[in-house]
Amino acid sequence: MADSWGDLERRVSDLHALEGAIAVLSWDRETCMPPKGARARIAQLSALQAAVHEKLVSPALGEALAMCETERDPERAAAVRELSRERSRAIAVPERLVRALAEAQGASLTAWRDARERSDFGAFAPHVERLLALRREMAACWLPLLPRAAGEPEPEPYDALLEGYEPGMRVARLAPILERIAAWLAPLVARVAAAPPPDDGFLRGRFDADAQWDLTMELLAMVGFDLDAGRQDRSVHPFSQGIDAGDVRLTTRIFEELPLSSLYGTLHEAGHGLYEQGLPAEVAGGVLAAAPSMGLHESQSRLWENLVGRSLPFWEALLPRMARRFPERLAGVTPQRMYAAVNRVERSMIRVEADEVTYNLHVVLRFGLERALLRGDLAVKDLPGAWSDRMEALLGARPRDDAEGVLQDIHWAWGELGYFPTYTLGNCYAATLFAAIRRARPGLDDELRRGELGGILGWLREHVHRHGRRFGAEELVRRATGTGLDDGDLRAYLEGKYGALYGLG
Ligand code: ZN
Repeated sequence: MADSWGDLERRVSDLHALEGAIAVLSWDRETCMPPKGARARIAQLSALQAAVHEKLVSPALGEALAMCETERDPERAAAVRELSRERSRAIAVPERLVRALAEAQGASLTAWRDARERSDFGAFAPHVERLLALRREMAACWLPLLPRAAGEPEPEPYDALLEGYEPGMRVARLAPILERIAAWLAPLVARVAAAPPPDDGFLRGRFDADAQWDLTMELLAMVGFDLDAGRQDRSVHPFSQGIDAGDVRLTTRIFEELPLSSLYGTLHEAGHGLYEQGLPAEVAGGVLAAAPSMGLHESQSRLWENLVGRSLPFWEALLPRMARRFPERLAGVTPQRMYAAVNRVERSMIRVEADEVTYNLHVVLRFGLERALLRGDLAVKDLPGAWSDRMEALLGARPRDDAEGVLQDIHWAWGELGYFPTYTLGNCYAATLFAAIRRARPGLDDELRRGELGGILGWLREHVHRHGRRFGAEELVRRATGTGLDDGDLRAYLEGKYGALYGLG
């Protein structure tokens, strides 16, 4: 038994080394690479990706996994389960399809950037058609692999794609939750929109870029991000890239006219990064050192960005630190005014700019459209119209053009269907986890006021991070909080917070 495990561990270690190299090269591409390096980088990355694929589908790995199937150690058994799942999904898709998708993605991204600039969905539509057809084919490859519980409804193509981001989640479970969220959110948005908006005039004007950068570094220290096991740089779009628990890269972006962008960019990515730094890299050959789902990963970023970072007690700690760097801009601003300003609700048409209240409606919209596309209930040419109608029904406003509507996200340009719901699952899990932290730490608001965030991180390390993907996302959250996936905590949080902020009584 010991030998079989040793053999598997060696193979996994090679696989991880290659994946780490891909991660470094990808990070470099977005942060430091000179433009003329792009061509060579595409070749480097695709060669490494092919090597990873080859190792993953190799019969030798299959045999090594089979030898460990009866592994009794629970962590090793979980590692075998996760690796086998990954491997089956990789084997199920023929190489021809993998290549076709990569080519279609490359062409589509260029066309999308162009079409968005000119706000012309018609020019981009053929690419959506092509990617949709390829994704349907992939879904058909994966559908037979989905584990089926007795009494569960027949899975649909969307389920097969969703499984890649949120293992175990099914449309039959997800759709009613999203419908319920939309049903209680829409009236909240309407009531908030009817109330007078808070004043955020003091956030307009120039906030020096260097001072903003220094503030984001101070913020990283406050949340406990280990700069000996990671770093922060600047990029066009903020992202985080875990290479290893000992090497986690974050980026932020700075606009001198929008001081909150760098702050919340850093806080969001730090949430992802803290999770990566806390993963169990030493356990079971490192196989478990990953999140069980994208939704759970997102719960970590949202928890720090929103539940912590948009709370009043946190601003009592952060405002003096920020005011020290921008004394003229923030003179006389109180934590309460700042708290109101950073929680300003607007009927924005753009998802990435949306506030906490309207955000999930953007997800509901995309989920409905993606599902209809995959089922063949909606034709690609009708997508912009369907988008606008549904947007109006959900948010009470229509986009002015395609750029502000159907062309805004990169996901579909990348052929990524089934991903959007993980953002809302992340919001649900974040609210549930934070409610549990609050129960466990009655003095939480005082800790936040003092800028002491170690208690929160310690709780997350203990209940979430250190488990990696040993359990599925929902099981992990249930073990940590007593509640699985549910929108109740999110609802209580949003209705309570915004009801008070906007005086909805
Ligand atoms: Zn995120």
